[in-house]
Amino acid sequence: TRPTILVTGGAGFIGSHACKALARAGYQPVVYDDLSNGLVEAVRWGPLVVGGLADPARLAALFDQYRPVAVLHFAAFIEAGLSVREPARFYQNNVAGTLSLLQAMAQAGCDRIVFSSTAAVYGDPLQTPIREDHVLQPVNPYGRSKLMVENILADQAAAKGLRVAVLRYFNASGADPEGELGENHQPETHLIPLVLQAALGHRPEIAIFGSDYDTPDGTCIRDYVHVADLADAHVLALRRLLADGDNLTANLGTGTGFSVAQVVAAVEQVTGLPVPVRRSDRRPGDPAILVADKGRAWTDLGWQPRFPDITDHIRHAAAWMRHRQAD
Ligand code: UDP
Repeated sequence: TRPTILVTGGAGFIGSHACKALARAGYQPVVYDDLSNGLVEAVRWGPLVVGGLADPARLAALFDQYRPVAVLHFAAFIEAGLSVREPARFYQNNVAGTLSLLQAMAQAGCDRIVFSSTAAVYGDPLQTPIREDHVLQPVNPYGRSKLMVENILADQAAAKGLRVAVLRYFNASGADPEGELGENHQPETHLIPLVLQAALGHRPEIAIFGSDYDTPDGTCIRDYVHVADLADAHVLALRRLLADGDNLTANLGTGTGFSVAQVVAAVEQVTGLPVPVRRSDRRPGDPAILVADKGRAWTDLGWQPRFPDITDHIRHAAAWMRHRQAD
């Protein structure tokens, strides 16, 4: 019998890849997802229960039926721009939703959680690469909602012995290397899929948000981390919690940054197609450089990304896009 792991948001981009990694590592994922942004076809490694975090009765029944030994908590709103326009909705879903999940966990005696946090908790970085002990000053409600949950989890750990791993993602990208899963946000706002769409002619062009940043080519630099590597890190964090290891907060990034212009050039190189580019204004709230200090995930989790090369992210994302198109 495989230990059951509840995966909130398991139909989403990162959650679905984590389910595949869990199944491969000998766990039984159970997905809880409202399908607001997910893919039903992504749920093929275990049961899917459709529901939202704001439904305590539903959550209680879920824990009762499946008796998970731990939770991977991905379910959240993620779009920073939307969080600025609809802050209450963000806090409701991301913060109140997590409180409702914690209550159901406590009632069921489930005391281990891996939480999806974000580099957005750092805000505009004072130093880069960013270490986990960098000051936490998020610049939008999205980042603040994630930081609030980090704080709630830390308090609950201190008071009740909750075992917590907080993973702060940098820029998740790529797709399942075997082509079974990929990114399908509606609407798509992430750079690599948008640039690929422009290369493949699904959109007329890509707007580069800002060319006057203090970076070598003037465009923003980000740390793109492959979604399959993120999934692996969740399995490592879960194993640590199940082995009664210490609570942990770790960045998940490669430690290497690529500029927007470099991403466009890499897409042109991988696809052999020209990418029509339009230089446009900066997007509010975008720091010039976000790159992880990767040390802690390496030393404390034993994590080593299999796909540090951004051309692999682009190849996998392109294969997924072509596959989806053919459906
Ligand atoms: N970006 C861009 N054009 C787009 C979308 C994104 O120039 O159409 C830039 C964005 O300003 C940022 C980087 O690409 O510097 C990554 O943005 P994304 O939205 O993928 O991730 P984020 O960094 O916001 O989490």
